[in-house]
Amino acid sequence: MAEKIDLKSMTPSEIEGYLSGLGQPKFRAKQIFVWMHRGVMSFDEMTNLPKALREQLARDCTLTPLQVERKQVSKLDGTIKYLWRLEDDNCVETVLMRYQHGNTVCVSSEIGCAMGCAFCASTIGGLVRRLTPAEILSQVIYTQKDSGLPISNIVLMGIGEPLDNFDAVLRFLELVNHPDGMNIGMRHISLSTCGLVEKIDKLAQLQLQLTLSVSLHAPDDETRSRIMPVNRAVGVENLFSACRRYFETTGRRISYEYAMIDGVNDSDAQADLLAQHLKGTPGHVNLIPLNDVRESKLKPSRRVAAFQRRLERQGITVTVRRRLGSDIDASCGQLRRKTLHLDES
Ligand code: SAH
Repeated sequence: MAEKIDLKSMTPSEIEGYLSGLGQPKFRAKQIFVWMHRGVMSFDEMTNLPKALREQLARDCTLTPLQVERKQVSKLDGTIKYLWRLEDDNCVETVLMRYQHGNTVCVSSEIGCAMGCAFCASTIGGLVRRLTPAEILSQVIYTQKDSGLPISNIVLMGIGEPLDNFDAVLRFLELVNHPDGMNIGMRHISLSTCGLVEKIDKLAQLQLQLTLSVSLHAPDDETRSRIMPVNRAVGVENLFSACRRYFETTGRRISYEYAMIDGVNDSDAQADLLAQHLKGTPGHVNLIPLNDVRESKLKPSRRVAAFQRRLERQGITVTVRRRLGSDIDASCGQLRRKTLHLDES
């Protein structure tokens, strides 16, 4: 069977091009785009298209429908966690968090992850494959549709390394930002990376207004290389240089994520070194209480408040991430592993 055409990864002008090859008028492109971004599951639901065209599209194209494999709703705070089944039977996770400033969806960019961070459940089985733009977008569309909750913010902080799937992620951003689609503004989107320096530079050139979050987790090379293999090739100094260039090019402050791990990255000396690094780079620190991953020996730090105070005394802006949905399989990657019994080996 020939591979189906991935219509949902296309921009309206690409859909126009495809349709003109079928002898169809241009205005059909916008109709199809709008239907797809509203979350129809079949071409038959596109009631303003001629029946013959719907049949042809159903034969040749896919709408990248996602099926709910599992859904969990937190009794504590209303957080919803979805495990979606993709067309090839792989699964990905999406989390909907209900904040005062709006409903935020946390999407995955890859199935599994190649980065190997020691504390992260998503990387344990390695990278299975990268997601298509449509598969990233569909997480937002179907989460909004299934939950009935309007989504105003997106964080690319689910499974996978977004900058390792650069082109697909950029196309996703273009699509989700489109006025005829979800129309979510770039300032309402955060992208989190483990620190792929060349890709940070490439992203900077695009001057997007999104928020870049850098998963730092340690201010010194010895510790960072131990818990984040990606650091061995780059180093903390190079990473901060890239962050400075990013700020200078885009004018956007970076948010540094720092998961607090007992006895690994939570000392006073590390707080001081972190503060030193940040003096030259505008940005703020987001301390994350470590989620206890069953397969990992790393344990949550008890020094979060002390670390925060020490940074603040040195003029650094610090927030501590609230734990949402702690009754429904905590951090990303864990639900996929549990449901697929990947955690039993
Ligand atoms: N690959 C990207 C985005 C996915 S992870 C990145 O590295 O940024 C989103 C955030 O969750 C990252 O900051 C990641 O380091 C963090 N994280 C992963 N496992 C965690 C755990 N067990 N506890 C706390 N934070 C974790």
